[in-house]
Formats: sequence, C-alpha cells, structure tokens
Amino acid sequence: MKIGVYPGTFDPVTNGHLDIIKRASNLFDKLYILVANNINKTTLFTIDERINLLKAILKDNPKIEVVTSDLLTVEFAKEINAEVMIRGLRMVSDFEYELQMATLNKSLDNNIETIFIMSSHEYSFLSSSSVKEIAKFNGDISKFVPLVVEEALHKKFNN
Ligand code: ADP
Repeated sequence: MKIGVYPGTFDPVTNGHLDIIKRASNLFDKLYILVANNINKTTLFTIDERINLLKAILKDNPKIEVVTSDLLTVEFAKEINAEVMIRGLRMVSDFEYELQMATLNKSLDNNIETIFIMSSHEYSFLSSSSVKEIAKFNGDISKFVPLVVEEALHKKFNN
C-alpha cells in the first residue's frame, strides 16, 4: 500500500492546496493531510478550525485522512508508514525554502522522499495569505476557495 503525507499550515485551505491534494491522491492508496500546529507561525484559524474545514471539503474522498500531530513531520511519516511527503511548488520563490526543508528532512530520515507537484497555472499565484488579505477588505474570493472557507473567512472578518 502506497501511503503519502501532505503537510502544511492550511490557514485556510485554498483551491491551490485542493488541486495538489486531488492530484496527489491519484498517486497513493492513502493520503494523510497533516495540518501543522505551528509554533512560529501566527494563524488566523485555530488548528481545529483548519482541520474541520479540510474535513468538510474532503469528506467524500475515502483515500484521504485529515490529521494533526505533535511529532516532527518525518517522525509522523514513519509512524504511519508513509515513504513520501508531498509539497506544492508555485513560483521559483517557493524553491529555496522547499529545497531547504526537503534537504533537512532527508538528513533527519533518509528513507522518506519529498516529492513536489507543480501548481496548476491557474493557482500559481494563489496563497492562503493573499486570500486572507482580499477577504479582510471584503473582496471576492469565490474563485480561490470553496464556499465553506469563503463563509468562514467572512465570519472571521465580520463582513
Ligand atoms: P507551510 O506553512 O507548510 O508552507 P502552506 O499551507 O502555506 O503551509 O503550504 C503547504 C504546501 O502547499 C506548500 O508546499 C506550498 O508551497 C503548497 N501550496 C500552497 N499554495 C499552493 C498553490 N496555490 N498551488 C500549489 N501549491 C501550493
């Protein structure tokens, strides 16, 4: 059984993440979405809110499980027998950080590979932070996120 893990902050999940999830889930028998409880990133949505949004959107895909963990990502991957971590790549600007993380993770556990999926061109400009910025000013985000996320953002910003 091929098991993959897609780690991220997902604050909140966007159509760009969902595109990567859909394409990655075709490559694995089971795909874990690992929602980071990041201590050095301030998030708009709590860990439970981020998990619940992902669960609501992905509930019909039996291959997918949405989880969080206190373990290091490579340790979590080992625990669930995943050999592959998935990350998305948008622009060249993602590359440096992603290369650093992939190299670091490889040095922590040489058996776990990081595999990159290139963003589809329509999402290559899309990030959680830009969606939050537009929502804050009550702009139209319907093309960028599913309806439940749109509603959750409007509620956060009281618009
Ligand atoms: P992190 O804080 O771990 O970077 P993010 O939720 O910002 O968490 O991103 C998780 C992963 O998804 C990263 O590999 C990121 O490059 C990727 N990603 C984010 N937005 C997009 C998008 N629009 N298209 C493709 N990949 C994306």
